[in-house]
Amino acid sequence: MRPIVIAGNWKMNLDLGETRTLLNGILQGVASARKESTHVIVCPPFTSLSLASEILRGSAIRLGAQNMSHHDNGAFTGEISWGMLKAVGCRYVIIGHSERRQFYGETDKLISLKMKKALDHDLIPIFCVGETLEQRERGETETVITNQIRGGLEGVSTGEAARMILAYEPVWAIGTGKTATPQQAQDVHKVIRSLLADQFDSTLAASIPIQYGGSVKPENASDLLACDDIDGALVGGACLKAESFLGIVASANR
Ligand code: PEP
Repeated sequence: MRPIVIAGNWKMNLDLGETRTLLNGILQGVASARKESTHVIVCPPFTSLSLASEILRGSAIRLGAQNMSHHDNGAFTGEISWGMLKAVGCRYVIIGHSERRQFYGETDKLISLKMKKALDHDLIPIFCVGETLEQRERGETETVITNQIRGGLEGVSTGEAARMILAYEPVWAIGTGKTATPQQAQDVHKVIRSLLADQFDSTLAASIPIQYGGSVKPENASDLLACDDIDGALVGGACLKAESFLGIVASANR
């Protein structure tokens, strides 16, 4: 049985004091909100990872980062390596978020190098794919997702891919308040699962958690998470308040 995975992507928000307040709020409520089969991950900005790791030690909440270099170390100003993330207690890293693709020019090729690097070093990547509104309106959703999956997972073996999490995040639903309907999301998740079966095998395809992301909030989470192929949520805006993040965690009912 696939776990439900609820991950909060804090993006470029919250300083150290705010990190402490939010994590303490989440810790206070998580025991009553979380079912055994639900995995809860927080992905604060780099500057908060060390503090978050200390606060979360011994708790059920897991730590992830929002990005990572495809290099090991060296003269790459402003970059953060897999080793630095692991040293600070991260088990997860978001790779290929649409904001990285859109604003920082990340290509499928670069994303595949980051995927390989994370998997080679035992970090679990949350690999993001999703189409823009124009692409959806032109009927290109399936082609875009296919190219992102084929490109982003180039050179990744079946054994490696078996350890990833995938997130379907339609770009038009991120931070816009527009959510894909459960049916729209389920349709794409099903396509993703069959792409994974083609590229790897059906056992792998059946075992990979596929999260939905795009304006998920407590009010719409249950309907999305009730879909057969939706195994969790990657949450932006609603993860910045303990109450709304825990509301989403509580909606997971597998
Ligand atoms: C995201 O950035 O991954 C995201 C889904 O953001 P939001 O929930 O704010 O749409």
